[in-house]
Amino acid sequence: MSETGPAPRPPQLADLITAKRDVRALEKLGLYSLEDALRYFPRRYIYPGQPTPIRDLEPESTAVVLAWVVGVSSRHMRNRRGKLTTVTLSDGMGTITATFFNQPWLEAKLLPEQWVALTGKASLYRGQLQLSNPVLLNQAAGEAPDLDEISHPIPIYRASAQISTQRIQRLIRVLLDSAPPEALADPLPADVRLAHGLPDYRQALEYVHRPMGEREPEQALERFKFEEAFALQAELRTRRVRTELEPAVALPGEAGGQLRAFDESLPFELTASQRRAGTEISKDLASTSPMNRLLHGDVGSGKTLVALRAMLQAVDSGKQAALLAPTEVLAGQHFRSLSAMLGPLAEDGSLFANPSGVRLALLTGSTPAKERRKIALDLVAGEIDIVVGTHALLSDSTIFHDLGLVVVDEQHRFGVRQREQLRAKGSGAVPHTLVMTATPIPRTVAMTVFGDLDVSVLRELPGGPRAIASHVVSLADHPHWAARMWEVVGERVAAGQQAFVVASRIETQEALTDPETGEPVPEAVGVADLAERIAALPALRGARIEVLHGRLEQGEKDVIMSRFAHGEFDVLVATTVIEVGVDVPNARTMVIMDADRFGIAQLHQLRGRVGRAGDDAVCFFATNRPEAHESAERLATVAGTLDGFALADYDVEQRREGDVLGRSQWGARTSLRYLSVIRDEPIVLAARTAAHRLVDEDPELDRHRALRAYIDRLLVRDDSDWMETS
Ligand code: ADP
Ligand code: MG
Repeated sequence: MSETGPAPRPPQLADLITAKRDVRALEKLGLYSLEDALRYFPRRYIYPGQPTPIRDLEPESTAVVLAWVVGVSSRHMRNRRGKLTTVTLSDGMGTITATFFNQPWLEAKLLPEQWVALTGKASLYRGQLQLSNPVLLNQAAGEAPDLDEISHPIPIYRASAQISTQRIQRLIRVLLDSAPPEALADPLPADVRLAHGLPDYRQALEYVHRPMGEREPEQALERFKFEEAFALQAELRTRRVRTELEPAVALPGEAGGQLRAFDESLPFELTASQRRAGTEISKDLASTSPMNRLLHGDVGSGKTLVALRAMLQAVDSGKQAALLAPTEVLAGQHFRSLSAMLGPLAEDGSLFANPSGVRLALLTGSTPAKERRKIALDLVAGEIDIVVGTHALLSDSTIFHDLGLVVVDEQHRFGVRQREQLRAKGSGAVPHTLVMTATPIPRTVAMTVFGDLDVSVLRELPGGPRAIASHVVSLADHPHWAARMWEVVGERVAAGQQAFVVASRIETQEALTDPETGEPVPEAVGVADLAERIAALPALRGARIEVLHGRLEQGEKDVIMSRFAHGEFDVLVATTVIEVGVDVPNARTMVIMDADRFGIAQLHQLRGRVGRAGDDAVCFFATNRPEAHESAERLATVAGTLDGFALADYDVEQRREGDVLGRSQWGARTSLRYLSVIRDEPIVLAARTAAHRLVDEDPELDRHRALRAYIDRLLVRDDSDWMETS
């Protein structure tokens, strides 16, 4: 029946297992194919060891008991649905009862005088020791337990009311013994496996489902982790090799160009990281293979400046550059900060503008139609050098004269598809791409999520590390701390400084009970209410307080922000809209109310708004959650360090793997099952080196079909465009 055509249907359990009941039960567990079943790994193993005589059992200890059945009875449980089966056991010197929930079939299996081996925890119930829901180690009814068999680790599978772990074990072992060789083709090439001392696929499956020794399941796990890491890295490398084959236009810059003029106009020195990143980018741009680089670094590390220098190199090479932001607000901010940085080098249409300057434009969804048409025409005509915008830049109506460089801010909100759309806008050639993100990314995550990109990191902050004294203020446990906190704010305002106060919401949300957990959820105060309450505090008598939030018009927001920057009022009570925006060096105090409602990255980003090197800045993380709440550790961690990279590591550790990898990066959902890209760093690194070597020899994996097929199964495609665009 074997065919040579592409991708034959993988063997299905329904074709391999005769008992339909078993097939249905396995399908309910999500197992459809032979591979699903073979890769259905136990939740845990029991390492039984030697049997313990019943009279020697101790409460709360786990043991193996070897005994015969004295009697069995079942009854319906009163308060719970289901049946309870009670088995009385004896080993001649002692007796004990074992209770089983919802396994009524045991009654037929456990006949009086039948020998059984079981393992579980002995516990006291009404003064008597009993084994509650132990695992039965016998395989078949009527047979004595095989003492040799039960001395091996016993896999315990996630089971269900329809099928027991013992039955699953049995079925999987039969499948493993009868699997055709094609089904056991190893995705890992033999030399890679040997070089890393890993068992082959079949052997690893034996180790998983039929381990002879305690170490075998671990050895198998190592292999499956490596396999996942290897497959991901091979896929990333394949994509990378493909993009390198596309031609790009070299952007060598110009010796006496705008970049040079800009560098000379800078009132400060570049940081060492900025210089290094700048050199890396400049070299990439000068090449005819497209740049695909990620630039990451903490808030304020100077990424925008690095991006601007790259864009100037493109402009000096006679090309256009586009900066893409995830939201209109951010696009507007980028536009303003680029204009500000360029200063007189920008030709912004104003009266005294530099006519030979860099021509900047902002194009977003809210740009009026008339202006938008003008910008569109100027873009086609090559009258604009740098355009900043949102998704609107991706629409078909935006045509570039000659797009050489695309800078994407906050990549994680852009899908692979958008990146491809932009690429298609380069006339004939592929534009160079620089991706920026303000979230520091742990090394192995960067390698996995952005593994097809080169990486530049801005490690230090201009002017050296910041000093921001950070305090968690637990108002639930220490209500009187509130007064002290506001006193500090008041004292600093009285001394002529300014302060940010951050609210988690625009409107106040009253205290309530979580319908799911039944936990009390404290009130979350809205901006206006918060401003009113603060104004009434004796500590802040006379302070000038204003409010800012995302529902205000952009123009209004800008006015408030700029008045604050000019010191026209003292306290700005705001939502997270202040996360990014103009610098206010005189604001060196921040209070974040209901800090438990923010994520780590956000708290860190907000705090970054106060404090430059040498400042005596203070940030309070106020919370109405008790110290026992799960948010307490998060707040303590953020308060405990100013190191964005350390916080990123912590943040990623807290999240589920899937959230870390995201989905847009891959254009597909990855279903990593064993590998943790954080904890398994050595495996990721080793697999990466091996995968690169392999792909460099066989870029499309033509000679590694089993690996190719495995990768395709690992990346569960859910974005149909992905196939065509990658
Ligand atoms: P990021 O985008 O990484 O958050 P920015 O590029 O916005 O950081 O820079 C933050 C601030 O630091 C800006 O005001 C910028 O002008 C300033 N800055 C950037 N690089 C330097 C430097 N090398 N020395 C001093 N100030 C710098
Ligand atoms: Mg910035």
